[in-house]
Amino acid sequence: MPLFAEARRDLDSYIAARIPVVGLRTIEQPRAMRLVREAAGSPARAGLPFWVYTRATGLRDLRTNAPVNEDRSLTGAMEFAAAQFTGRAQATVVFVDPDDVSGDSPFTRHLSELARLADSNSGCLMLITDTPIWTGLLRLGMTLQLDLPDAEEMYTQITSFLGDHHGVVPIEWTEQDTRRAAEFLVGVTEAEAVNLLATIVAKGSVKREDVHLLARAKDRIFGDLAGLERVQVKEADRQIGGLATLRAWLRNKRELLESDLRGTGLRPPRGVLLVGVPGCGKSLSAKAISAEWRLPLYRLDLASILGKYVGESEGRLKDALETVDRISPCVLWIDEIEKGLAGQNDSTGVNRRLVGQFLFWLQESDSRSFVVATANDVRSLPPELFRKGRFDELFFVDLPDEADRREIIAMYYQRYVKVAPPQDLLDALVSMSEGFAGADLESALHDVGAMRHIRGEAAVTPAFVRDTFANTMPLSRTNPEQIEDIRAWGRDRAVPAGTPAPAPEPGGRGGRRILPQPGVGGGF
Ligand code: ATP
Repeated sequence: MPLFAEARRDLDSYIAARIPVVGLRTIEQPRAMRLVREAAGSPARAGLPFWVYTRATGLRDLRTNAPVNEDRSLTGAMEFAAAQFTGRAQATVVFVDPDDVSGDSPFTRHLSELARLADSNSGCLMLITDTPIWTGLLRLGMTLQLDLPDAEEMYTQITSFLGDHHGVVPIEWTEQDTRRAAEFLVGVTEAEAVNLLATIVAKGSVKREDVHLLARAKDRIFGDLAGLERVQVKEADRQIGGLATLRAWLRNKRELLESDLRGTGLRPPRGVLLVGVPGCGKSLSAKAISAEWRLPLYRLDLASILGKYVGESEGRLKDALETVDRISPCVLWIDEIEKGLAGQNDSTGVNRRLVGQFLFWLQESDSRSFVVATANDVRSLPPELFRKGRFDELFFVDLPDEADRREIIAMYYQRYVKVAPPQDLLDALVSMSEGFAGADLESALHDVGAMRHIRGEAAVTPAFVRDTFANTMPLSRTNPEQIEDIRAWGRDRAVPAGTPAPAPEPGGRGGRRILPQPGVGGGF
């Protein structure tokens, strides 16, 4: 049931039960007022008086909007409420965003007295507020949370908005586009959604690609969040060499992420954990997924989440994850997850709690946020991260093999030297670059491209390119023990992200295997 309908059902039952105080918590006052108006408009309540007070408009009859008096003060409205609750039965007075109701104060005690008066005559004091309500007051009644519209409600809203503009501007959106737009709009208020849609319509047409304008516009609304950074992805980040198994796996997940899962009992994919050798494309994969799937990319900076004070880190992580739910659909990139969640020296237990909090969210959140977490130092990671049911898969990103190096070299040669490499040079570079990471290959070819830029095409001779490769010292040679350590761990425990290796010998150890999917190669 959509959230609005659910809230309406609860509010109806509270009004019918004559609960003396009803707290309606929301950041969308207009939507909450619509809810209360609908409830007051039900034929069963035709004879019951409903009043509403706001600072701007003073006291009014909720149904007719007729002003009650000239006095716009809160005190005047409270006196009026007291008179109603004493003088007649079943009166309802709604206060919209009154003074601070969150703590024990003379004002909230005054409201409690009003609630008792209401109780004595089957009246109802309703408070619409975006802050928590003092427990002393709440104990006398019930609260209701009106959350932001969900995808289903957004869908209805968009359909009705577009319906109003049919014949006015050309509208290309299909049912699927509208569903996708609704997903993008989850997390914004009803009013913000209408503004965003109106901006699109004001262009003079509603085109299919406009769905993605919504994602960008939503980004501006959530532009300034602690711990979450919006990462701009360049067109070049789409291009990845090798990692064929990971790419094929991601293509399947994309279909699931974009498909309509209502009524299937299935949950959208949650994410992937990429561990492995530095410089081999883990971070690049996060960017490529965002670019290829056309979803905004946010980086969760665990270092800035970690606070100095007790409870601070947990609070910040909670805020950040709640925000991710609001900004989804998106790709959430957690770079070097081990740095934020590693458990060593955790005398205060903060890291353990953060891990638990993060995993709970990963498992329970049904937002369409796809997490790409990357890690180099896998040994320090808490083992619960690897358990099934958390990340959808754990991939090991190794140094590129011969075929992958060929693809990466050809790709960067084309990018920096502006032509395809001659075949014999490509063969030579592939065999010279055993042990190179993708980053080493990119850096060597960048040097070649720089030479071409400064000295001209003639300077880029095959001999110069080979020399550049020969002079490159890959990380795997500068720190062989560390790399071997990472590889030994990953081969045994994770699915290889690169070209599927031949089946292991019977009885041999071999890493976890994933079946290659059709259509290996190309984008995600
Ligand atoms: P680290 O753990 O050090 O961050 P990483 O695995 O995340 O390493 P990336 O940041 O993705 O490595 O790679 C660094 C750069 O190397 C990329 O920006 C890209 O230019 C190049 N690169 C690495 N692997 C690949 C690849 N498979 N295809 C294309 N480029 C690659």
